[in-house]
Amino acid sequence: METDCSGPRKEKSRVLQLDEACPDQELLREAGAYVKGGGLAAFPTETVYGLGGNALDPEAAKKIYAAKGRPSDNPLIIHIASAEDIFPLVTEFPESARKLTEKFWPGPLTIILPKSDLVPYETTGGLDTVAVRFPDNRIAQGLIRFSGGYVAAPSANRSGRPSPTCAEHVREDLEDKIGMILDGGPVRIGLESTIVDFSEDIPVILRPGYIGMDMLKEVLGEVRTDPGILKTGKDAPRPKAPGMRYRHYAPRGELTILEGEQEDVRREIRRLVREHAEAGETAGIICCNESREAYPQGEVHCIGSRDDENEIARNLYGILRAFDASGVGRIYSESFFTPGMGQAIMNRLIKAAGGRIIRC
Ligand code: AMP
Ligand code: MG
Repeated sequence: METDCSGPRKEKSRVLQLDEACPDQELLREAGAYVKGGGLAAFPTETVYGLGGNALDPEAAKKIYAAKGRPSDNPLIIHIASAEDIFPLVTEFPESARKLTEKFWPGPLTIILPKSDLVPYETTGGLDTVAVRFPDNRIAQGLIRFSGGYVAAPSANRSGRPSPTCAEHVREDLEDKIGMILDGGPVRIGLESTIVDFSEDIPVILRPGYIGMDMLKEVLGEVRTDPGILKTGKDAPRPKAPGMRYRHYAPRGELTILEGEQEDVRREIRRLVREHAEAGETAGIICCNESREAYPQGEVHCIGSRDDENEIARNLYGILRAFDASGVGRIYSESFFTPGMGQAIMNRLIKAAGGRIIRC
C-alpha cells in the first residue's frame, strides 16, 4: 500500500503492537520496507513518538510536511541506528561532537553539523546543516535499520499541537494521514531531545531537553545557550532552530503560567478560577501533587510530584491534550523550575502558553 500524504487520505493507519523489550522482527521488517519505499510510519522513541519517512528521499520529506501541516522551512531530524552512520551525512565531525555522542548516544541528544550532498535540502528545510540523532529505543532502532539506516522524523503530531507521548496521541492527530503507527506503549522521557549545534566554534544549545547544561559542560567544557530560547516577547532574539520560532506544543485553550512564591501563585490561580466560575466557565489548572488540595474549583490536573522532575516531564504533553478533550477555554499553570530538566520543562510550557506569564 502506497501512502500519498499530499491529498486527503481516507483509510485509517494500520497499528502494529510491538513490545520494546523484544520487538517482533518480522513486523519491523515490514514497517521498514514500507518506509524505505516512500511510506510514512509513526514510531516510539525514548523522548516522544516520531513520524518517520526515508530521509534520503525528497518526496518522503514532502509527505511528512504535508501530513503534519508543518511549514517546509522547519528542518527534520535524521534518525540513525548506529553511531558511525552519521559519517556519510556530514562534511565535518569535530572532536567535541565525537566526545558528546560517545557519552550520550544512543539517547536524547541531537547534534547539528554541516551536511553532505547525500542529504536532500527537502529534509533540512533548505539549510546547509543537518540534525542527527541515534534514539535509545529498540523499536525505533529496528525500524531505522530495516528502512535502510536513515529515517527523517519530526514529532508525530499535527504542527503546533503538543508532541505525542503515546500511540493514542498519534492516532488523534494523524490517523487518516499516515500508513502505519508502531505502538510501543508510553514513552520514557516525554520531552523532545536536547539539540546541540556544532556548526560554529563553540557548541550551542538550540533546544533544552533531558540532557541539561551541567551534563553537557562536563563533557564539552564550554557550551552556550541560544539567546533566542531564553527570552520571550517582541524584543526577544530569533531562535536559531526554525522550529523554536513557532507557537508550539499548544493546547486549544488559552494557557497562562503563574510564577512566584508558591502561596502567592496558589492564591492567584484560585482567584482567577473563581472569577471564571462566577461567569459560568470551568477553567483548567495544572499543578503539582503537593498543591492539589489548594484548588477546590476548576478542572485540576496534577502533573506529578515537585520532587520528581521525570514524572513532570513525562506527564506534560498528555495533560495539555487532556484539556483539549474537555474543551476548557482558559488554563492556569504553576511553574516547575526543577533542578535538572526545569529549563526544558519551562521552555515547552512557556511556548505552549505563547509567552503568557503572570508574575505574582
Ligand atoms: P521536531 O522534529 O518536532 O523534534 O523538531 C526538530 C527541531 O530541530 C526543530 O526545532 C527544528 O527547527 C530543529 N532543527 C532540525 N534541523 C536543524 C538544523 N539543521 N538547524 C537548526 N535547527 C534544526
Ligand atoms: Mg515537534
